[in-house]
Amino acid sequence: MRWTQTFIPTLKETPADAEILSHKLLLRAGLVRKLTGGLYTFLPLGLRALRKIENIVREEMDRAGAIEVAMPCLQPPDIWQQSGRYTTAAEVLYHVLDRAKKEWVLGPTHEEVITQLAAFEINSYRQLPKNFYQIGVKFRDEIRPRFGLMRAKEFIMKDAYSFDVSDEAAMVSYRKMYDAYTRIFARCGLRALAVEADTGVIGGNYSHEFMIPAETGENEVVYTESGSYAANVEKATSRGPLTPTPTTDTGAAPEKFPTPGVVTIEALTAPPFNVAAHQQIKTLVYLADAKPILILLRGDDQLNEAKLIARIGAAQARPATADEVFAALGAHPGSLGAVAATLRSPGLPVFADLALQGAAGMTTGANEDGFHLRHVNIARDIAVTQWADFRTVQPGERDVASGQPLKSRRAIEVGHVFKLGTKYSEKMNALFLDESGRQHPCVMGCYGIGVTRTLQAVIEQCNDKDGIVWPLPVAPFSVCITPLNVAPDAPAMKLAEELYHHLTREGVEVLLDDRDERPGVKFKDADLIGIPLRVGIGEKSLAKGEVELKPRGGSLLPVKTEESAAQVLAWLRTESARFQIPA
Ligand code: ATP
Ligand code: MG
Repeated sequence: MRWTQTFIPTLKETPADAEILSHKLLLRAGLVRKLTGGLYTFLPLGLRALRKIENIVREEMDRAGAIEVAMPCLQPPDIWQQSGRYTTAAEVLYHVLDRAKKEWVLGPTHEEVITQLAAFEINSYRQLPKNFYQIGVKFRDEIRPRFGLMRAKEFIMKDAYSFDVSDEAAMVSYRKMYDAYTRIFARCGLRALAVEADTGVIGGNYSHEFMIPAETGENEVVYTESGSYAANVEKATSRGPLTPTPTTDTGAAPEKFPTPGVVTIEALTAPPFNVAAHQQIKTLVYLADAKPILILLRGDDQLNEAKLIARIGAAQARPATADEVFAALGAHPGSLGAVAATLRSPGLPVFADLALQGAAGMTTGANEDGFHLRHVNIARDIAVTQWADFRTVQPGERDVASGQPLKSRRAIEVGHVFKLGTKYSEKMNALFLDESGRQHPCVMGCYGIGVTRTLQAVIEQCNDKDGIVWPLPVAPFSVCITPLNVAPDAPAMKLAEELYHHLTREGVEVLLDDRDERPGVKFKDADLIGIPLRVGIGEKSLAKGEVELKPRGGSLLPVKTEESAAQVLAWLRTESARFQIPA
């Protein structure tokens, strides 16, 4: 491809509204342009890199035995009603009206469509296992689209769905996808980390997210240095807080004392009260599927909402507003407490975190503005409906299995593998007959890769001060030939053309920078767009019978003119070998 015949609008200035480095580079290198927040047009370079990633994904899916299909984005709402997600996934669903005012939805994911297909097409164990995948557009009504392609309203996902006869068989399908994902991200030049992920109400240990460590990531990953444990913070567990919970009971009954104006855990730690945070019980009020519930945590702990939803089996849960709290408990946030609240409203469910088990001599709100209670013994004074792990793990705590200290870092979620079980197959009648003619729901798994997000994650991980440093397998072009004089009869241009044709014939993807620009501009642009190998052809080195190979991020390598094509091919072979993974 000749630079002048394609469209690579590089920018010198950093666009003001791009927040993170990879977003800036996407725009500066002319890969994409914004239509409006969360919607982007792919320009030629961006599209080429995207196709590279898609092809790697496709090769690995095919190799793992998955079958490619293409499903409609426009979907009838009734399948969403059937699965129950018309309400539970309401916040991401886009709705469309046709001319008859009939409603349609735009697919944020395709479990409903594929399960309906399976319901019609699969009826015998002989047809199983099956794993269907597609690479296509998804629509999600994200409240805060941001960071360019990272969180968009319309994006490209690879989604796969497996159907099996049993749990064990489903685990085999799951493992195949897990392994395929490991290969995909490595082939894209990414260092990805598979972490245990929240499974929501489905439960079980069969969900992993593939994470790219990055300061700008929206996820937090908790891990041990040895790599023995890694989990999304939404799911992570530990041996508990480092400071033990007080458990000594003096025998004293709960005693109300005045705390005028004290509405935070922090304020109660200060004189004259001096109650350390871990000696306090924090009381939160949530609406779980619209019903008020109390959640008790140690004062120095934070609620983990993903754990809450998973453990109590609610479809949705959100903090109650101050008015809702007052309506349910008769006190305001800051003075709440379960001892008095449950006396006042006996039916109120109380969920307590395991770190509070056996706690005594604790202080909590008196459920009356301006008062707290001390000498609270949780076993004696509070009727707990359910004990569970509701807290957010903190760095420094010990790993449950190994006792190693836990660390935490930010990361970008690029992929997700999930064992679904029979949640969708039961609701949507995806049933099969076993050998003895008995009917069962198919055991399903679903597996997603954010293809456009992966593209940006590569840029976030692979860059330097001059621009993008594409790993060869996903680079829009492998080689950029940069003649410094582009007059048609100039020796530099003639050699450039020759090399261009030679390499192209060999199947190499070459960009020929035939722009009549200063060398500085051309070199800067080649660095910015990150092509792995640049071949500089200037009159000075030509006079010595040489051209200059410059790997992106490496140093200049003068080679003899007549050897240039062979040297380029040799370099590409060595470089691509770095990303090959044995079968
Ligand atoms: P997130 O937690 O980031 O919102 P998710 O868990 O809802 O993502 P999944 O339903 O698991 O996402 O989708 C599979 C993959 O699709 C994700 O791992 C991610 O890479 C990608 N993805 C999800 N939402 C978006 C989005 N709004 N823009 C771009 N990619 C996305
Ligand atoms: Mg996910």
